[in-house]
Amino acid sequence: MYETNYHKVASATDAASILERAEDGRLLAGGQTLLPTMKQRLADPTDLVDISAVADLKGITIAKSDGRLEGGETITIGAMTTHAQVAQNSKLAAVCPSLCALAGNIGDPAVRHRGTIGGSLANNDPAADYPAAMLALGAIIHTNSRDIPASNYFTGMFSTDLDEHEIITSISFQAPASGGYGKFPNPASRYAMAGVFVAKMVDGSVCVAVTGAGEDGVFRHPELEAALRADWSAQSLDDVSISPVGLLSDMHGDAVYRANLVKVMAKRALG
Ligand SMILES: Cc1cc2nc3c(=O)[nH]c(=O)nc-3n(C[C@H](O)[C@H](O)[C@H](O)COP(=O)(O)OP(=O)(O)OC[C@H]3O[C@@H](n4cnc5c(N)ncnc54)[C@H](O)[C@@H]3O)c2cc1C
Repeated sequence: MYETNYHKVASATDAASILERAEDGRLLAGGQTLLPTMKQRLADPTDLVDISAVADLKGITIAKSDGRLEGGETITIGAMTTHAQVAQNSKLAAVCPSLCALAGNIGDPAVRHRGTIGGSLANNDPAADYPAAMLALGAIIHTNSRDIPASNYFTGMFSTDLDEHEIITSISFQAPASGGYGKFPNPASRYAMAGVFVAKMVDGSVCVAVTGAGEDGVFRHPELEAALRADWSAQSLDDVSISPVGLLSDMHGDAVYRANLVKVMAKRALG
């Protein structure tokens, strides 16, 4: 092993000041991506700043705007909330069941009990599940210094708008009137070979975001959105043609295969 200084902090402010002083400091959330990366010697930070004890980065709150349970509630999820906590939260399930289902199908139980939504969004793996949900739901990524709309946040494969040492504190979005997620998991890794999140908001707007399939990471799909805006049903997608241009080709499947998966997963997302 190489030497790494380990710091366990009680606040995001303390984390920020250690990161500022460290030669090459990294936040440690659930460790489900960072620790394997270190084991493979693809990263060797001088300092690990463990934020797992920061209480105000955890938890899920739901604020009703006008007493209805028909969408529109403001959902806020702390960055250190684990995938298992998102999956099992009954209040969240009442207003946004699609996100609970998405979280419940991330990786395996060990990954779900340690991995966090903030870590997943900071990492922005092109096959991760949360980026599709956040983009489709029009989420805001809150950090220790600003609020970033999801539409500006995801900037490419493993790339985000976060500045060096910027800390995600929470994520917020409005509950959709209707939504769903279809995912075709890689049988070995459980990451998405294609994952499609569909969301219809209370104002009638429709957003479709695709993960796992794009060469540049998560992206919106205007043709699927147009079809669903006209008719919110799986049948409305029958005549939509998905172009393979810009889709990933790798050892798991080529772009044409992924284009087909995108359509099939979009239909599954609609139930
Ligand atoms: C076997 C396996 C299967 C998996 N399957 C899936 C899957 O099916 N779908 C899926 O979406 N993901 C999957 N994952 C990834 C998993 O969801 C991880 O939890 C996630 O990518 C990283 O979250 P973490 O909390 O473990 O972050 P960490 O590994 O601790 O950190 C990841 C990166 O984010 C940074 N970071 C962490 N928290 C913050 C923050 N609050 N602000 C700013 N930067 C931060 C860290 O410094 C680091 O660079 C899988 C992982 C494994 C090991």
